Amino acid sequence: MNTQPREIISRDGASGYLAIDLKALQQNYRQLVERAAPVPVAAVVKANAYGLDANRVAPALREAGCRDFFVAHIGEALRVKPFLDGNARIFVLNGLQPGAEGTCADEGIIPVLNSLEQVENWSQTASGRRARLPAVLQIDSGMSRLGLPPEEVETLANNPGLLGSIDLLYIMSHLASGDESDCIQNADQLAAMRAASAHFPSLPLCFANSGGIFLGENFHGAMVRSGIALCGGAPTDAIANPMRPVVRLDVRVIQTRTVPAGTRVGYGGAHVTTTETRLATIAAGYADGLPRSLSHKGAAYYNGTRLPIVGRVSMDSITIDVSALSPSTLKLGSLVELIGPHQTLEAIAADAGTISYEILTGLGDRYHREYR
Ligand SMILES: *Cc1c(COP(=O)(O)O)cnc(C)c1O
Repeated sequence: MNTQPREIISRDGASGYLAIDLKALQQNYRQLVERAAPVPVAAVVKANAYGLDANRVAPALREAGCRDFFVAHIGEALRVKPFLDGNARIFVLNGLQPGAEGTCADEGIIPVLNSLEQVENWSQTASGRRARLPAVLQIDSGMSRLGLPPEEVETLANNPGLLGSIDLLYIMSHLASGDESDCIQNADQLAAMRAASAHFPSLPLCFANSGGIFLGENFHGAMVRSGIALCGGAPTDAIANPMRPVVRLDVRVIQTRTVPAGTRVGYGGAHVTTTETRLATIAAGYADGLPRSLSHKGAAYYNGTRLPIVGRVSMDSITIDVSALSPSTLKLGSLVELIGPHQTLEAIAADAGTISYEILTGLGDRYHREYR
């Protein structure tokens, strides 16, 4: 990645530049394929591919060899489908909503069935159409979020007729602590997954998320599902982030000033300078996915120099202390780095008291986006 400050003059007066490196995304995909081999890697492209644009991300991954795509909602499946070919498979994690069965069946979208009620509805849809319909069965292995609880798994195992003409492709579950390599919950969930799958011995498993891939092949099953690692986020605490960065964010300086000691900065006058300070105001704020919790805490970078955020983050702007730079360095139109070679996605997320996922999905649409 180029570590030099960026300089872009544009006609559109964009607040900042969000560069998304689709080549790096594809390299991340290939790295995960190697790590998960021989089982395939499915791409999780929910929430518009973690904010990076599913209609660009999914085809780029398809080109790199990915066949399976998971979204959260049927609406997301319908939106991304025209950007994929007929051999790609699209799965809906949040399950089958009443009334959406017909759309799912018509469009060839594969629901993840999360309860016996959903199994019944899909089974009725299949018999109503005199067709076999595919699905994934999700079981709750300990997260208490989605999936059949153990008693429903048992009911289904004892009454296989409930499946009717449903073709189950996988038995699936999700790790609550896949990114924490030493967490005991991973072993507990693996045991629960094995107990459930013993009822369905012919069904392949789909278990690991990005973090789970790094927990070892016990967790891989027959297909893994990755989202954050494809986007360059750190998938595990076990090793330094091995993924290539996909996102770079540079934000425009829209004003600079030098103020004396004792000057209030920003909303609430919540910061007061203690010495003469050179300030720059940059053109992105919490409406652009830079959380208000970065107030007094986070930083921008210029050529490797840390420029601390002073005062509160506003909706459309942030004020930074640029005293560390020589006075003429930053001027109207200069770009400072928020995510890039000097500040990782994880670093800005940590300063904001959140995780990389929330930063990515919040970045918003006021930046000028560049896909490479
Ligand atoms: C979001 C999600 C994933 C992807 O998780 P990452 O940690 O981003 O790899 C996988 N499976 C399920 C069920 C999810 O909700």
